[in-house]
Amino acid sequence: MPVLHSDAILDRNAKGRVGNLLYATLCMPQSDMCTSAFTSIQTVVKNNRVLLGLDSTLGAVVGAFLVLLIFFSHMRSHSMSQQLRRAIRRKEVSILYQPIVDLETGKTVRAEALARWKDEEGFAVNPEIFVRLAEERGFIDELTKLVVHTVLQDFGTALRSESNFHMNINVTATDLHGGQLMPMLREALTNAGVAPSRLAIEITEGSTVKSSVERAAIRQLRDAGHSVQIDDFGTGYSSLAYLKDLSVDAIKIDKAFTMAIGTEAVTLGILPQILAMAETLHLQVVVEGIETVEQAAYFAGKERPVLGQGWLFGKPMAADDLLCMMIRKPDYEEELSGDDLVVRKEICSSRN
Ligand code: C2E
Ligand code: MG
Ligand code: MG
Repeated sequence: MPVLHSDAILDRNAKGRVGNLLYATLCMPQSDMCTSAFTSIQTVVKNNRVLLGLDSTLGAVVGAFLVLLIFFSHMRSHSMSQQLRRAIRRKEVSILYQPIVDLETGKTVRAEALARWKDEEGFAVNPEIFVRLAEERGFIDELTKLVVHTVLQDFGTALRSESNFHMNINVTATDLHGGQLMPMLREALTNAGVAPSRLAIEITEGSTVKSSVERAAIRQLRDAGHSVQIDDFGTGYSSLAYLKDLSVDAIKIDKAFTMAIGTEAVTLGILPQILAMAETLHLQVVVEGIETVEQAAYFAGKERPVLGQGWLFGKPMAADDLLCMMIRKPDYEEELSGDDLVVRKEICSSRN
């Protein structure tokens, strides 16, 4: 029985233990209504039966309690989505950037933009939860737009320069279906004077194979000049067999595979096949979740340079921290030039 974090129980199907309580939560598809029931471990141990249905009085109490739980869970989710929407409109969702490095040279060649949000009580909400909430409540396009605009504001200079620096953003299946993604990207990039080739689009694996709409959207993104990358590769629907049908530029190998390096895990056996297939199909490989030198070394020396992302190279950080981290490396001179470089060096030296 998994031990759950207390936040996890109310908004997704889950079964597990929180402290000395056993929980089961059932959520209705296409809705944010969830029902949770729980009982203490002691009750289970002593009586060897579930709290529900002990007798009719207790049943009525539990029933009333469940109704209240449904009500509060609905209210909580509703107010959460309102808070999120407000935060997006007020630009209170912030963006951190995680470096992506060339494993041969150690140079930061890309970064991934990752959204962060604290609710109105100041609690950081897991991005996977608030991204899904924005998707389900129909305003994911507002979040994606905020990410794109923030990226262009923070890294416009580096992305306009002659350098080899690129930025990755995440989009959801809902963005691909919505029809607003392409015009929004076109307008934002044109206004910022940044070429589409400098902004890569990460799409989670599960969403890429589902429908022809998604495949058509991927084609449009590539035709417009964006690099399209399959995120969390190896965890979703696309097995190796799908790889050659996916018309994309890169795969991001999920961190579950990276974590298996140096262990006996079964997943490790698949890794050489993924790498060989990517090589055959001329796909760029990005490896997620690199935390140790040993994991980085596993991917070094490949014919086509592999890119790496993970805590070994840097956790997600503020834009200025990433720019200053990059400027400390001598070859960064290529990324900025002239006045921009002078200004940036001044900012970074005052930060040390
Ligand atoms: P992702 O796109 O696969 O992003 C990588 C996640 O792995 C990030 O989690 C990052 O902090 C984490 N990570 C990076 N290196 C390491 C490492 O070495 N070890 C470990 N254990 N973790 C590492 P994060 O920021 O919590 O984001 C979770 C997911 O939420 C993202 O997964 C992405 O699917 C989604 N997400 C985040 N920001 C956005 C956004 O702006 N838009 C959309 N649509 N989705 C987003
Ligand atoms: Mg990603
Ligand atoms: Mg990923």
